Amino acid sequence: MQEFTKFPTKTGRRSLSRSISQSSTDSYSSAASYTDSSDDEVSPREKQQTNSKGSSNFCVKNIKQAEFGRREIEIAEQDMSALISLRKRAQGEKPLAGAKIVGCTHITAQTAVLIETLCALGAQCRWSACNIYSTQNEVAAALAEAGVAVFAWKGESEDDFWWCIDRCVNMDGWQANMILDDGGDLTHWVYKKYPNVFKKIRGIVEESVTGVHRLYQLSKAGKLCVPAMNVNDSVTKQKFDNLYCCRESILDGLKRTTDVMFGGKQVVVCGYGEVGKGCCAALKALGAIVYITEIDPICALQACMDGFRVVKLNEVIRQVDVVITCTGNKNVVTREHLDRMKNSCIVCNMGHSNTEIDVTSLRTPELTWERVRSQVDHVIWPDGKRVVLLAEGRLLNLSCSTVPTFVLSITATTQALALIELYNAPEGRYKQDVYLLPKKMDEYVASLHLPSFDAHLTELSDDQAKYLGLNKNGPFKPNYYRY
Ligand code: NAD
Repeated sequence: MQEFTKFPTKTGRRSLSRSISQSSTDSYSSAASYTDSSDDEVSPREKQQTNSKGSSNFCVKNIKQAEFGRREIEIAEQDMSALISLRKRAQGEKPLAGAKIVGCTHITAQTAVLIETLCALGAQCRWSACNIYSTQNEVAAALAEAGVAVFAWKGESEDDFWWCIDRCVNMDGWQANMILDDGGDLTHWVYKKYPNVFKKIRGIVEESVTGVHRLYQLSKAGKLCVPAMNVNDSVTKQKFDNLYCCRESILDGLKRTTDVMFGGKQVVVCGYGEVGKGCCAALKALGAIVYITEIDPICALQACMDGFRVVKLNEVIRQVDVVITCTGNKNVVTREHLDRMKNSCIVCNMGHSNTEIDVTSLRTPELTWERVRSQVDHVIWPDGKRVVLLAEGRLLNLSCSTVPTFVLSITATTQALALIELYNAPEGRYKQDVYLLPKKMDEYVASLHLPSFDAHLTELSDDQAKYLGLNKNGPFKPNYYRY
């Protein structure tokens, strides 16, 4: 429990099952938003609402938005064909029959596709939001209209946040037997308030870095009382979320906020891990001159072989037009660096936390802050120099752009399969520990996404399978293989 209380993360976490940012209240988003100002003043907790079937087993901003939310869900479904095919494959079979899943994730059109898939596979679901800002109200309304017990709205207070989680867990005549969590707050709540619920829980599926970290700490302390699946570190999630998602979204975030042209611009990217590699690939393709900073000689050598100059930040800080951090580290860009940047230099962060750029050091009396657009601040030095700071140093793509539905589909499919695996696993397969998704299921997630590209896999012949010592149906790589 103590491990959990160290990490109050409701608003600060990064996670993949998001298409709307943690600061979506003031960010651009491709998801349309519908507001009915007439009911803005009244808290959803005060309202009496029923869906068209007479059920009031939910709490959302406005049930009347359901039709609009349904359209959003249908748009998301078009790029989430793997989940749809999972629904079809399991027709009749219902691998989640009897499952009572309590979930706490971002509530967006994409997670709605996941939730409805779980229901189609036989589960009953009760759901709350893992972030007070990220709920798409119309989507929550559509879920409520479809009969899902959803308790979430955009702009919840801290008290609302825990109230919603509590309403999902604490229900007469209904007890969860599976947990799907994103960030660990739901798991924490159950541990703290309803430890007896764990007697019935068959497993926890956790998707975020933070939540997984908390689970490993519990496990280390011998306090984890059910099996847990670490979805965050499955290959399909790591590769697609970190590399491809950032490759797709870095330019979007920069363009929407600054209208910058990249051709010929000098950009320094700090960190050449998965996120850095994705960002650099996109920047290079648009003709930017890209420099890399790295602490790790292997990643530095990779950057060299990919044709980038590896430098120390100090060596280029005076000349670059854009600085992007992707290290997961802290104080990578210091006040000294910021002091030396040229006029109009753009500074932003793609890493998990807002500690990579020392934004606090810019809150001093001699500097003037000017909010020029949503998520764009000009920080002005006494001599008139301006530095363009994006999203106050928080994750750029989550704050200022959207992420591709297809990437979210991969994570959602992984979550669904992890739930199916834990729910159906024979006694003894999983102990009270944290597990990675079996490699074969990772491969299955990928295979479900191949038809979208009309990709045709080559099958091993018996002879070839024998030669490589593999089963013809996989897994095709050992666990230590680095993709
Ligand atoms: P990674 O570990 O693969 O890469 C980080 C790299 O930064 C490493 O190679 C490391 O050697 C380097 N590094 C560390 N400190 C440094 C420093 N002071 N200067 C220069 N380089 C330094 O991690 P990753 O998968 O690339 O993720 C990086 C960060 O981005 C994490 O915080 C992660 O949570 C976050 N992330 C963001 C998104 C997004 O959508 N924006 C997606 C996935 C992950």
